[in-house]
Amino acid sequence: MPRFVEVIVTTGAPQPYTYRVPPPLDGRVVIGARVLVPLRNQKVTGVVLRGDVTPPPGVRMSDVSEVLDGDAPALTGELLDLCAWMAEYYEAALGEVVKAALPVGTGVGARVVIALTETGQAAVDGEGAALPDKQRDALSRLARGPLAVTAVGAKLKAQLEPLIARGLVEEREERDEARVRPKREQVVALAVGVDVAALTAIISRAPKRRAVLAALGASAAGGAMAIAELERQVPGARAALKELAKAGYVTLGEREAAVEAVAIGSAVTDAFGGGAIPTLTDEQARAVGEIVDAMRAGAAAEPTTPPTADGARPKFVPFLLHGVTGSGKTEVYLRVIAETLAMGRTALVLVPEISLTPQLAARFRARFGDLVAILHSGLSESQRLAEWTRLRRGEASIAVGARSAVFAPLSNLGAIVVDEEHDGSFKQDESVKYHARDVALVRAQRAGAICVLGSATPSLESYAHAERGTYRRLVLAQRPTARSAMPVVDIVDLRTYLADGDAMLSAPLRTALVETLAAGDQAILFLNRRGFATFVLCRACGYSFRCKHCSVSMTYHRYSDRLSCHYCNASAAVPDTCPDCKTTGAIERKGLGTEKVADAIALEMPTARVARLDRDVATGSKIEAILGRVARREIDVLVGTQMVTKGHDFPGVTLVGVLCADTGLTLPDFRASERTYQLLAQVAGRAGRGERAGRVIVQTYRPTAPAVVAAAAHDYGAFFAAESEARAELGYPPHGRLIAVRIDGKQSAEVVSTANRLAQLAEMLARRPECAGVEVRGPVPAPIERLRERTRWQIWLRAADRHALRRVARGVAAAEPGAGVRVGLDVDPMSAL
Ligand code: ADP
Ligand code: ZN
Repeated sequence: MPRFVEVIVTTGAPQPYTYRVPPPLDGRVVIGARVLVPLRNQKVTGVVLRGDVTPPPGVRMSDVSEVLDGDAPALTGELLDLCAWMAEYYEAALGEVVKAALPVGTGVGARVVIALTETGQAAVDGEGAALPDKQRDALSRLARGPLAVTAVGAKLKAQLEPLIARGLVEEREERDEARVRPKREQVVALAVGVDVAALTAIISRAPKRRAVLAALGASAAGGAMAIAELERQVPGARAALKELAKAGYVTLGEREAAVEAVAIGSAVTDAFGGGAIPTLTDEQARAVGEIVDAMRAGAAAEPTTPPTADGARPKFVPFLLHGVTGSGKTEVYLRVIAETLAMGRTALVLVPEISLTPQLAARFRARFGDLVAILHSGLSESQRLAEWTRLRRGEASIAVGARSAVFAPLSNLGAIVVDEEHDGSFKQDESVKYHARDVALVRAQRAGAICVLGSATPSLESYAHAERGTYRRLVLAQRPTARSAMPVVDIVDLRTYLADGDAMLSAPLRTALVETLAAGDQAILFLNRRGFATFVLCRACGYSFRCKHCSVSMTYHRYSDRLSCHYCNASAAVPDTCPDCKTTGAIERKGLGTEKVADAIALEMPTARVARLDRDVATGSKIEAILGRVARREIDVLVGTQMVTKGHDFPGVTLVGVLCADTGLTLPDFRASERTYQLLAQVAGRAGRGERAGRVIVQTYRPTAPAVVAAAAHDYGAFFAAESEARAELGYPPHGRLIAVRIDGKQSAEVVSTANRLAQLAEMLARRPECAGVEVRGPVPAPIERLRERTRWQIWLRAADRHALRRVARGVAAAEPGAGVRVGLDVDPMSAL
């Protein structure tokens, strides 16, 4: 009886297909295994969803071609269920979700092509000349490279057939191998029932073979041993093994090779690693206690409380660890995880951008060593696969990583921590638009794990849950040592205090900076704009330099002496003459960026060691290097973009200056105020973490904006109250749910007409009784209307009830868009841009 399986292919298919399992592969085609399957004239990577399906009678199913996994399936049933939930919730194709869950670079593909044979190759210049014209053309077309059979039209096919008959051209399979794959190694083990002592007596005249047997007998009670290792112990073992295998004394095999933990840069471990384990404060101890109790209760309850129909377990209450900056949230995570491991379970820690917070990874490694696997985009694909493999094999039991680490292959999950849960980078903004925090909550709930969301500045959604009691709030109101109180924040009104000099420092900020440096302390200056000048214009006619492909101004970078678009990376030279009015010498560089601030401070304060941290100077390991220098106090002033606001813990920093608090406030985005509050509170939290008190100076044109005032007062409650009220009026989250319909395409007219048509459809659907309460806003052009040569429009759907909302969104997404127009749904959108 042949077996049939359901496979979801990772090319964006919404539905699985059925394949037959050829007998030789039977044992290995298990649920969650990656397989290569034929699909039209290609072969693609897929994952087995169901193991025993009955195909409709009379339909011939193709065979699974290959099993791509080594010793264990790539995805567990638990992760497949999570993928299915995501596909449903985010209105995404299951194949896309599954692809996101697999480690990058491991996909395999193959396609059938028509190509020249060797004889054909030789014939191109030689005997090919004697062929009829059209056949000769076909031959020379293939001389430029193989063609996918799918790309061969009927006419060309007719010309190719005689060439195939003559052996000049053939159909063959061309494979795209995985870019990375786990290393395998040759192993050997004693055959079952072999008694080493008895055997060595018999073959006493072959010392090499005796030595090999002795080594195998001594290795982990006769378990399999890597041949490379055996060869190290007994040089020449390989040759002896052949004869032993022939005699049936040993068996040879293959397995995935052991993987080493990815090292984290020494710059980081030297600067941040280690440190004694502190005694918990009362607040910390209470938080750890509550979380651990819940985990114990959950573990105890697990067998007796099966999931309900929708996968939910009763009594799943996530924790919101609301701790002010520097209150020691990381220590709480570390203790909770130590308990998790002690219970024999595993843990997952999600962080916004691990390359920005090497400190956190270093603290985890310092506490738990190689049990920690690190997953983030700064690693190479093969390093990521190695860390992933260690987790899957249970060699590592703590995964620390950014967004996609939510799919870490951990079994028996006991705890999930989402650090800085408010951070926008948890939302994936292309392909499947998932929010890793929300996926983490679902994963924890289904796995019977506890989930801790940590932040000093919780998202409005999470805090509202805590207010309603659906999350349990744990508070760390104090920094752990009496010395490190919260810093004092002063607001400087830029309308009255004209900031002067190139660096735009007001007198109070300048004085504070000079004092800080004189005291031998360090300062952080924050400005959320990189580059030298953020817009460039002609003084004579007002012409401004904008990107040709996007509707944004270009930024001038002095280092490269070029204009650059921060959205599509297009770049251009700055001319002397205005391209519009032809005036020469009237081009002005306006608007302040971090490059200019850093340059100006270095000029004004020549003894200060100034460094810059933004995307222009720092990517990957360079970020770690700069942060390491700050930690070692080799830098006095660090100037940077939001990269400086992240969880850094530098005891030497006593001054934080915010050059312009309101750069983000004017964005046409309902989260603008929340994001500003978070940035200000977070950057302020970098000051005064050590022995000496910290101070913060915030320069702003809007000194009365609630986000600015509340951040200065360290008053999250006040911010939440004001912002929550403002959102209630418009029904924005947490008071309602949103789905953004994003419409884009190269042809503006098509995009606009599709947007209008879909908005009308949405209005119509919203009038149905089952869609009551859905409000349609738009269509409107996106704030950045043109991006990479595509015009972008949006329709916003809002409702209190998510089922009604979803019905309208589905109806809209199912409609046929205009030619060349893409329509995508963004469930729980994080940004309007
Ligand atoms: P958060 O993540 O809440 O901003 P961190 O976890 O970075 O704060 O902790 C801030 C600093 O306080 C770190 O240097 C950490 O080592 C230290 N710390 C944490 N808990 C304690 C404690 N119980 N006693 C002393 N120092 C502590
Ligand atoms: Zn651009």
